[in-house]
Amino acid sequence: MTTGTKLEPAPAAKPATKAAPSDGKPAGGHTSLFETVIRQFNKACDLINLDPNTRRILAKPTNEISVNFPVKMDDGRVEVFTGYRVQHNSARGPFKGGLRFHPSVDIDEVRALAAWMTWKTAIADIPFGGAKGGIQIDPAKYSKRELERITRRFTFALGDNIGPEYDIPAPDVNTNAQIMAWILDTYLSTMPPHTRQGYGHVVTGKPLVSGGSQGRDKATGQGVVYLLEEWARDQKKPLSEISYFVQGFGNVGSWTARILKPFGSKLLAVEDHTGAIFDEGGLDADEVADFARHHGGIKGYPKAKPVDHDTFLSTKADIFIPAALENQITARTAPMLNVKLVAEGGNGPTDWDGDGILQQRGIQLMPDILCNSGGVVVSYFEWLQNKRSEFWDLEEVDHKLKKRMTAAYRSVRDTAAQHKTDWRTAAYIVALNRLETVYKERGIFP
Ligand code: NAD
Repeated sequence: MTTGTKLEPAPAAKPATKAAPSDGKPAGGHTSLFETVIRQFNKACDLINLDPNTRRILAKPTNEISVNFPVKMDDGRVEVFTGYRVQHNSARGPFKGGLRFHPSVDIDEVRALAAWMTWKTAIADIPFGGAKGGIQIDPAKYSKRELERITRRFTFALGDNIGPEYDIPAPDVNTNAQIMAWILDTYLSTMPPHTRQGYGHVVTGKPLVSGGSQGRDKATGQGVVYLLEEWARDQKKPLSEISYFVQGFGNVGSWTARILKPFGSKLLAVEDHTGAIFDEGGLDADEVADFARHHGGIKGYPKAKPVDHDTFLSTKADIFIPAALENQITARTAPMLNVKLVAEGGNGPTDWDGDGILQQRGIQLMPDILCNSGGVVVSYFEWLQNKRSEFWDLEEVDHKLKKRMTAAYRSVRDTAAQHKTDWRTAAYIVALNRLETVYKERGIFP
């Protein structure tokens, strides 16, 4: 995939060397994503009067790893890449979070995504902490063999900073099961042969035959749909009568749409890095996904009309599902939205100003840290299956996922009502209460 110009521009990629201090200040002049996290966090802390010691701890990531590593290209040249792993918090369990390959990856973005993982695993109530990582790279510029060497060398550079009981990566933007298989193989190859069988859970989102779980590929989209079922029930409106549009038609966006299809919900518009399309009569999610897979994007899809970015965002529908990159709903774009609900399939699509405008306009919001948690929940199931040498069938995975998503939905909904606050703040409150309990019980060493 390539970086497109259709979406709100991602922060310019900066040459990164060492991790900058994590004080939440804008890095390099653009709006800091971590600053957004801290503002969201502070709002929730103030509302529940979070213990000041817990607050100080959670405001900073535990570890920030930045590595520059050389890789031999197909033509014999050596390129040096920059990769990151930020381990935000492990109070509730091993660090857990995806790896992203994208030009926008920098320490500020990874720091923010890592913190969101800490809240997400707490809301989903799974025994993990939060981490995130990535390489600042446009993967479309490299051959498959180069991507393999880049992935393997990054894994080698991370060394003992990842591990099956310590920090467990997973797929994110522009990474997939194949990349997880290369990470697994590289990690195992650095271990003594007689111990290797015990380390298969060092990474999740693996291909099935390499210890992956049934249902992991679609898990994030499946989780979004379980939540939308709950939301629709609360609205007393069946999903069959709901219209929606999706930004980003990769793993999260396309699976959400494909799983919604049998419910009869109407998909009005789709946007990816190549452009946006609209069809009043409804798009067929499977056909669009198929087209995007074969053509590298949705541009040129013959059964819909192309529309520009602002027209796409103005689509009148019940739900907008942003499932691409950050900072898409802003002071400029939030006033354009013509929906009842924004369901954040992607991480961080709404910035601080955009959030305020949605609230003023009475547009409901299902926050990322709740909405896209299905992926990490099934990653947890994969990790458990690996530890127990078990394989669960799809029915079992989906059943367990639905139970957890429904419980998370209800705890956020009820917390929002109890504190008379928005759903994002309510989701933070659920997470922070759980984390605060751990710190209060354990205390601080020494
Ligand atoms: P993906 O790489 O599979 O798809 C990304 C999609 O976004 C593509 O359709 C791409 O065309 C589009 N896109 C939009 N703007 C782009 C741009 N400027 N440059 C490149 N592509 C652009 O990624 P994904 O795994 O679906 O992740 C999407 C979002 O969901 C991210 O915020 C990610 O962190 C989040 N998320 C993913 C998972 C998961 O399990 N994969 C889990 C939780 C959250």
